[in-house]
Amino acid sequence: MRYLKLSGIPVLNMSDAFAVLFGDKPFHGHGIVLTFDDGCRDFQDHAYPVLKRYGFPAAVFVVSALIGKPAEWFAREGRAAPAIMDASTIRELSRQGVTFGPHTLSHPRLSQLEQDEISREVVESKQQMDAILGRPTEFFCYPYGDYDDRVMAIVKNAGFKGALSCLRGSAYPGHEDPFQIPRKAISYGDSLAGFWWKLHMKNRKKTPLGDY
Ligand SMILES: [Zn+2]
Repeated sequence: MRYLKLSGIPVLNMSDAFAVLFGDKPFHGHGIVLTFDDGCRDFQDHAYPVLKRYGFPAAVFVVSALIGKPAEWFAREGRAAPAIMDASTIRELSRQGVTFGPHTLSHPRLSQLEQDEISREVVESKQQMDAILGRPTEFFCYPYGDYDDRVMAIVKNAGFKGALSCLRGSAYPGHEDPFQIPRKAISYGDSLAGFWWKLHMKNRKKTPLGDY
């Protein structure tokens, strides 16, 4: 985050970035949105204090049926299950300006489910997050970046403006699908050099606006 601050690359919130990509909000040059999947307590304990220090906005996508409970899908995958934030923390961080959205009820691979199960995972997780926040959530995030045409249709019909995928790359105005917004994945193993590489070099696209 110190590197981002020093680099001067603006860090945008989800709504502003969406308005740049799919609306008519003017914006020149590169910008970044910081997104965090799952809603684990480490966001509250470790990430948020740093974001706050730098004044950076962020978006967090929460597995809503596990709010205040262990992230049990980690255990299904043989990993230690961290805790998901509780509802009062989510509400408080929302008041502080963090954007929240649903990330399903239970973190399944949505494309492998039947139609009614997909609907339940998408619609009920939106209802739960909307109820906690007291207003409608606007953005969805597919677990594992896993979706197909059925999943996208259900997410659109549920009333979201857009959804985040795990398609690797940058997004640029006029050339993206709002329900398949690409991202770059930063994870445990990334050093500052790895972060820099992913940010500036990896998955570069030639675009009419220059290289991204
Ligand atoms: Zn996830």
